[in-house]
Amino acid sequence: MIEHINDTKLSESETAGLFLLERSLDYVYSAALRAVALLGVADHLVDGPKTAAELAQLTEADESSLYRVLRLLATKEVFRQNESGQFELTAPAQHLRTDAPSSLRSGVLWVTDEVMWGSIGEIVRNVRGETFKKIHGMNFFEYWKERGVSSDGYDFHNAYDSFSNKENEFLVRNYDFPNGSTVVDVGGNLGALLLGILRRNPTLHGILFDQPHVVNRNRLGELGDDKRWEISPGDFFKSVPKNADFYMLKYVIHDWNDEDCIRILRNCREAMAPGGRVLVMDPVIPKGNTPHIGKLLDQLLIGVCEGGRERKEEEFRQLFARAGLRLNRVIDTGCHVSIIEAVAD
Ligand code: SAH
Repeated sequence: MIEHINDTKLSESETAGLFLLERSLDYVYSAALRAVALLGVADHLVDGPKTAAELAQLTEADESSLYRVLRLLATKEVFRQNESGQFELTAPAQHLRTDAPSSLRSGVLWVTDEVMWGSIGEIVRNVRGETFKKIHGMNFFEYWKERGVSSDGYDFHNAYDSFSNKENEFLVRNYDFPNGSTVVDVGGNLGALLLGILRRNPTLHGILFDQPHVVNRNRLGELGDDKRWEISPGDFFKSVPKNADFYMLKYVIHDWNDEDCIRILRNCREAMAPGGRVLVMDPVIPKGNTPHIGKLLDQLLIGVCEGGRERKEEEFRQLFARAGLRLNRVIDTGCHVSIIEAVAD
């Protein structure tokens, strides 16, 4: 029993010092999350709670270390220790299960992968002006193409599908597409967003546009209706499919500097049918000190995408204006990704 002999009230400065000390340790939570995702701990808890000893045996881990990792995560509602000392799944931990609908496991592995981890850990290099390309000899997308699928089963494309899928339903239910329209998902990766939109809007036609090696791996077959979609391999800096009514750009604009964004947006503007719309889907950075997931993602962009950034509403307005478009409205979807709708100017 620890005897509490010191109930001195902390000064403001002492409290602040401890606060900063704790902030400097925040990265430890991400590391612990990576460890349990790699070990597949959540999969072993589907049938019910288990002790650290049982989990260590199942995952070929050291019992004491695994216990300490789980004890930390339980302070953040990822796993919970019950009264008999066993660990059990919590609602957030359910998303780490490999078999969970749109599992976040590969998303967690990718966002904590050494290339992301290293970039964020030494972000000061980028802040001082070094680029991902200078450090790795190629840009971010070339890097992942070259690296392919890791031995732990993730690569950029399946991991980003897992990461980004957590927001898709918010986007799908907050935009009404007119019957019979054609929607292009520009840089649509494996097609999860388009799949959600086609499911909700049975009269829509969808075109998945991305790099050839990406669209070839698409998931659109899950719709069970091959007549309502097609794939279109290409380079959005050259051109995008013509004559569609909607051009969606989710997590695309945030990857690029203003000049590159204007090239992509102009290509959409030139291709779209009369009355067409561009739907940028990115976080919109709020004013002031408000916490926002977009401000975290923005840090990753400093490290990995030269010139990439999360933008404020005014910055979107200016980008659109330079691409012959006009910002029409910003739709708050209830998650950190908004729909920023633009029409021809
Ligand atoms: N829209 C998806 C993926 C965003 S990641 C989502 O929100 O989950 C950015 C996507 O842009 C990747 O799938 C990448 O393959 C694609 N991309 C990058 N450069 C491209 C280019 N020049 N032409 C077409 N697609 C490109």
